[in-house]
Amino acid sequence: MSSGKINVSVENIFPLIKKFLYSDHEIFLRELISNATDATLKLKHLTSIGEATVEYGDPMIEVKIDAEGKKLHIIDQGLGMTADEVKKYINQIAFSGAEEFLEKYKDTAKDSGVIGHFGLGFYSAFMVANKVEIITKSYKEEPAAHWTCDGSPEFTLETADKTDRGTEIILHIADDSTEFLEESRIRELLVKYNKFMPIPIKFGTRKEALPKPEDAGEDYETEYKEIDNIINNPNPAWTKQPSDLTDEDYKSFYRELYPMQFDEPLFNIHLNVDYPFNLTGILYFPKLSNDLQIQKDKIQLYQNQVFVTDNVEGIVPEFLTMLKGVIDSPDIPLNVSRSYLQADGNVKKISNYITRKVSDKLKSLFNENREDFEQKWNDIKIVLEYGMLSEPKFYEKAGDFALYPTTEGKYYTLAELKETLAPTQTDKDGNLIVLYASNQEMQHSYIEAAKEKGYEVLILDSPIVSHLIQKLEADNEKLTFARVDADHVENLIKKEEEQISRLSEGEKTKLKDYLETVVPKEKYSVQLEAMDSKSAPFIITQPEFMRRMKEMSQTGGGG
Ligand code: ADP
Ligand code: MG
Repeated sequence: MSSGKINVSVENIFPLIKKFLYSDHEIFLRELISNATDATLKLKHLTSIGEATVEYGDPMIEVKIDAEGKKLHIIDQGLGMTADEVKKYINQIAFSGAEEFLEKYKDTAKDSGVIGHFGLGFYSAFMVANKVEIITKSYKEEPAAHWTCDGSPEFTLETADKTDRGTEIILHIADDSTEFLEESRIRELLVKYNKFMPIPIKFGTRKEALPKPEDAGEDYETEYKEIDNIINNPNPAWTKQPSDLTDEDYKSFYRELYPMQFDEPLFNIHLNVDYPFNLTGILYFPKLSNDLQIQKDKIQLYQNQVFVTDNVEGIVPEFLTMLKGVIDSPDIPLNVSRSYLQADGNVKKISNYITRKVSDKLKSLFNENREDFEQKWNDIKIVLEYGMLSEPKFYEKAGDFALYPTTEGKYYTLAELKETLAPTQTDKDGNLIVLYASNQEMQHSYIEAAKEKGYEVLILDSPIVSHLIQKLEADNEKLTFARVDADHVENLIKKEEEQISRLSEGEKTKLKDYLETVVPKEKYSVQLEAMDSKSAPFIITQPEFMRRMKEMSQTGGGG
């Protein structure tokens, strides 16, 4: 037996670890399972290159609660550690064996999926345990080692009689952390952090019905067998090649990600890049309603199949945070503040890559099946319009597929719109006037009046549309948008038709004078020209600029 001092300069680092290392105590389990996964993947790598000659087999990781003994066990069948390795890797805080491994085998192991790299994960165990034991047997021909530490810098190290290869970590759960002895809490954590980790994780057993025998009689009672309860899917869809996946595979992975989500996604985008950064993932366009609702099922961020967070702010462009799905990248620095993240060059590249992939996908959907794309437009427009306003790169690309629907059910691109409207909807200065309605019901009579005059009316009803209109006007010469109930309509060049009014001039003046006593003159103007229209006896309009001012102040201005 040997004993010694853990090699850190601060006399007692444990209280510090407990308080400050991670704000979230629950992540200790993620860290320990990551280490168990690393130990298994390292062994896999060593056997594959012939450096370890042991049988790799079908290893799994087991998590076990001993409620009575107030202990939590994490057991793996990975490469294990010799006593010397325990001293080297465990006693040296902030020395990462994972990093050392990747450095040593950098030619062959860069795709091994090894997770750790700060050399601090193991010590997160002390956030919830007042004593930690490691019992470990290396794949090398050496006796097993037993390390014990009670949270002070003192540790003990002795030999153990463990004979099977691998490592068992035993946490003696502290009195303030007994929640981690509850089955439901541990299951919750496993599902949250480890659901897609690459090595099977066993947590208890469950009963599985045996197939009914062919000669079973009327009174046959289903028989069950006890099987390992594996909580994870080690081969999630995003780790596969897009060519190996069907539409149904993508949909079923969506259900796996969001078991409580019953709507089907509209379409998905498979992300897959390894240069100049590494990133895989699948993004889904969900059906979105018109209001920017708070999203419960968010995009999940993983590193090497370990869940990290569902706060992807700064990594995914803001307008795409309304999507769902997963992103997996070992290249996102996560132990840094969000503001640093936004300034990080790699992260900026990732965000640009995602924007590009999304616009490429939209464009190909548009090109391949325009009708289908038009049908989806209403469900995706809010994301796209928001993207056009907030991401210049996306705005550029969106010109190809952003659609402007009419009250007649047609969908124009901006170029098509210009071409269609040019002959009929210009004012005397040659400005193209795009008429639109923001509310088909409330502006019904105006729409009808405009249609009767032979004009086309768009339906632009998303909450941010006034900002988008401003931008389109600023970027397109001689293009003006006018809401169908605005005074602009009257500036359009009239068709040659004769206007027949049913009222005499005197009656008109009288009616107009009367209406103006009811309708404030400063805000609206009354027009009787529409008298000939079948649907509306007269029209009250509001100057376009006044309405926009009001709208901008309601949606918070800026674009
Ligand atoms: P990191 O994972 O970032 O390297 P950790 O503090 O999590 O740092 O772990 C330190 C080191 O201890 C690991 O790199 C590894 O060498 C060793 N280690 C921890 N857990 C195990 C385990 N279950 N099996 C084998 N080695 C382990
Ligand atoms: Mg680790």
